[in-house]
Amino acid sequence: MDLQSVLSLINERKEEYLETLFTLLRQRSISSQNDGVVECAELLKVIMEDIGINTKIYKTEGQPIVYGEIINDPNDLTILFYGHYDVQPVDPLDQWLSPPFEPTIRDGKIYCRGVGDNKGQLITHLLAVKTMLDVHSKLPINIKFVFEGEEESTSVSLPVFVESHKDLLKADLVYTADGPMPVTGEPLVLLGVRGVLCVELTAKEAEWDNHSGNKGNIVPNPAWTLIDLLSTMRDHNHKVTIDGFYDDILKLTQEELDLLKKLPFDNEKVGKEIGYKELNMDGETYYRKLTLEPTFNIQGFISGYGGEGSKTIIPSEATVKIDFRLVLDQNPSDIFEKVCAHVEKHAPGVKVKHLGSMEPSRTPYGNRLIKVIEEAVEESYQQKPIVQPSLGGSLPDYVWTKILQVPSVVVPYANFDEQNHSPNENMDLENFYNGIKCSCYVIEALGAYKNSMKN
Ligand SMILES: [Zn+2]
Repeated sequence: MDLQSVLSLINERKEEYLETLFTLLRQRSISSQNDGVVECAELLKVIMEDIGINTKIYKTEGQPIVYGEIINDPNDLTILFYGHYDVQPVDPLDQWLSPPFEPTIRDGKIYCRGVGDNKGQLITHLLAVKTMLDVHSKLPINIKFVFEGEEESTSVSLPVFVESHKDLLKADLVYTADGPMPVTGEPLVLLGVRGVLCVELTAKEAEWDNHSGNKGNIVPNPAWTLIDLLSTMRDHNHKVTIDGFYDDILKLTQEELDLLKKLPFDNEKVGKEIGYKELNMDGETYYRKLTLEPTFNIQGFISGYGGEGSKTIIPSEATVKIDFRLVLDQNPSDIFEKVCAHVEKHAPGVKVKHLGSMEPSRTPYGNRLIKVIEEAVEESYQQKPIVQPSLGGSLPDYVWTKILQVPSVVVPYANFDEQNHSPNENMDLENFYNGIKCSCYVIEALGAYKNSMKN
């Protein structure tokens, strides 16, 4: 397929494509406030149908999912583009330099709520497909789209939808453009995320707060109960001592370890950025600990008196909120059971509450399609991408790798300072057009790969 004529058509249509994006941006779609989301799904469907994509809106318990496809031959190689059309709330409103739902261009940037996260990124796939269809009237591979309206509200319906539509969504690769590019400007290819499990532990001893002198040594202190319990959960080398916690962790592959060595890292700069100048690590250790090892964190500890001066009481209750970041192949429900068993053994009176969880996900770097994507991204940006085995944070990537069981890759198109979730969210015009081009390179490279497999 001739990509040159596709790329020049994108250049000719810059104004037109910007206008399509602006149409989508003007439609409010704040999922947490149920503001305009259904209308946005309908608008997105119209935009997709205008391009020639078979589109259907699927109702869920929450916000609708917009599904689209262009299928040449059901046995052909298939890419599934995932994105979300919902956005974050806009407050504080007075900090916006232009109204949040009026797309405005200033200094080479488009300002609007949702432009980076994620409307300006998801639409690049649609415009890539439009251009390729207009030039060649046919795509080299099958393409599917899943655009959800609840990503900013923890994607509650997405796993249910994927679980019940496995045949519909059958694909060889899931591709997501979301998040910012690195501060250094290179393209980034992300292969996974850590999972997370949030838990609350509550100890209650006497029925009310007691005098620490008059009842001292008589009434037990629930803060000590929790501190004693926590100290049975981790040793002095920071190893988690909950039975079986590490059992399911997969050994890192040599390829993954090699990738870590190539990631850019400046100890001093990172130390300053996170407000911890004492940081003293090499890049490999930093990324291994940050992305490929689990954590055990105390979020907050609440008990007794925290006001001015002192108040000599023995508190009646204490609560600690903890979270674990999990790595493959730790399962959050299994880890939760192990936490419960540990508490039952060491402090049976303590109540355990499940606050939320998400599974980890990682696609092996050895996957052939990942190499195809890496090369396509390099060609598109004329720069080698950074390939990172996992993010430190958590995203619902497991719906693709675990429920649908296909490799999944995230390639961010937005600029580093996209200000998503904040006032003055923006996307560089350059990043928007480069995104359309990158999606064209990806589709074209997968087509070439498919043909090479046939021969
Ligand atoms: Zn977001």
